[in-house]
Amino acid sequence: MSKGKRSEEKKKKRRKIIVKERAFWSMVLSAIEVFHLETLGILLGLKGEDTYVVEYAIPFQTAQKAKTWVSPNERRASRVKKIVHLLPVDVIGDYHSHTEIGDSKAIPHPSGDDIADMEEGNVYIILAVNESEKMVEWHNNTDGSISGTLGGYHIRMLAHEYIKTGKFKYKNVEIICPSAVGLKGSSLRG
Ligand SMILES: [Zn+2]
Repeated sequence: MSKGKRSEEKKKKRRKIIVKERAFWSMVLSAIEVFHLETLGILLGLKGEDTYVVEYAIPFQTAQKAKTWVSPNERRASRVKKIVHLLPVDVIGDYHSHTEIGDSKAIPHPSGDDIADMEEGNVYIILAVNESEKMVEWHNNTDGSISGTLGGYHIRMLAHEYIKTGKFKYKNVEIICPSAVGLKGSSLRG
């Protein structure tokens, strides 16, 4: 197979993740709520062949929040997972936020620790949250992320999955979120 063809194949194989409206708002609001700290939560939904569906995003309220580090309370996490077993949805991954530190802008790419915590077959969402004076309508980006502003913050949401091979050990997953795209970026401050 030629190199060009292979990269074409790769592109085609990028999986999709459908983010339901309530899951979008849980992630965004929990990330804004604790800004400048980081938030962490689990993603509940379904795994298909090429598509994940996020029905719910549940923030871990007991996560110890620090500026560059988030760790869930282990016991609480396993209790939540036990309860989730009773629901018609599965834990399909998790999400957390990155926030700006001083002059360095937050980016939605996984850190070394983030990659170390990934498991094959799950999906991971990172929200990069930066303060912003501008208003940007929510839109899709070519890397598969979605971004826009809300309440004085610019948020870029990018999904990944773990891959065994390759330099980066992860691959972007394309976010499909019709309820976010087209949002006017209005201010929550009113
Ligand atoms: Zn991270």
